[in-house]
Amino acid sequence: MTNSIFDVYGAPVLAILFVLLFVLESNYQLRKRVQGRWKRVIINFVVSIPAFLLLRLMLIPVMVWLAMKNQSWHIGLNYLFDATPLIEGAIAFMLLDYSNYLWHILLHKLPILWRFHLVHHCDLDLDVTTAFRFHFGELVGSVLFRGAAVVLIGAGPVAVLIYEIAFEAATQFHHSNLKMPFRLERMLNFFVVTPRMHGIHHSIVKQQTDSNYAIVFSVWDRIHRTVRLNVDQDKIITGVPSYADESELTIGRLFKLPFTKIRPWPPIRHNASGNEREKKEPRDSIR
Ligand SMILES: [Zn+2]
Repeated sequence: MTNSIFDVYGAPVLAILFVLLFVLESNYQLRKRVQGRWKRVIINFVVSIPAFLLLRLMLIPVMVWLAMKNQSWHIGLNYLFDATPLIEGAIAFMLLDYSNYLWHILLHKLPILWRFHLVHHCDLDLDVTTAFRFHFGELVGSVLFRGAAVVLIGAGPVAVLIYEIAFEAATQFHHSNLKMPFRLERMLNFFVVTPRMHGIHHSIVKQQTDSNYAIVFSVWDRIHRTVRLNVDQDKIITGVPSYADESELTIGRLFKLPFTKIRPWPPIRHNASGNEREKKEPRDSIR
């Protein structure tokens, strides 16, 4: 069964990766924490439960079903030409990643989607548990977009599932608070999104949040000039400035947050670290 790829191979790989990152980020910490670690583990775990159930029971089955149906519909890019399954798979993998880059921009730019994505961004710390902190509404919203992408790309069911495993693994990795050696991270960042790169996307400085949208491959931010690497990690304050009061970010309130009046993002003066023409290279940047 195609569907079992995620459960048989993906789930154990992702579980091992989670434990590995959780242990490593405790020993090699990149950004200082502002909240108690275990309190956040509980909050992010509980918030993630309905989102995870919807991912496994709705989003993945819908995308795989569409990919299977499309094998008789023959819609989408991969059906326009005759390529080997490996090339078709590689094209599907790359373009699924590109479609998720575009979806991430929509999550930030469309007010109706930002309501839900805000629950992820108002985490005051960033670590591997943030990778699971998504409001279930965001998952529901993504079904239409991500389902359409599967069909338009002409991705096969195996490619959809392999990409989904890579997507989840990349999300865990780039949200982690893991301090890697500069040279290693700089090299990795040439290809994939790394913790320092994605840390900038979670900054309270709007110009910094409006950058680094990519999920697996960093190339999409480079192509669209949304990449920003010149920010010192020590200067990053994580979160959304209008939602920075810890006492407001309880489990119950986070579930209700998308259905309340959303506060605007106030301008933040932030030591010019959001200024690209900054003369001095920040000490902890990977540019
Ligand atoms: Zn985001």
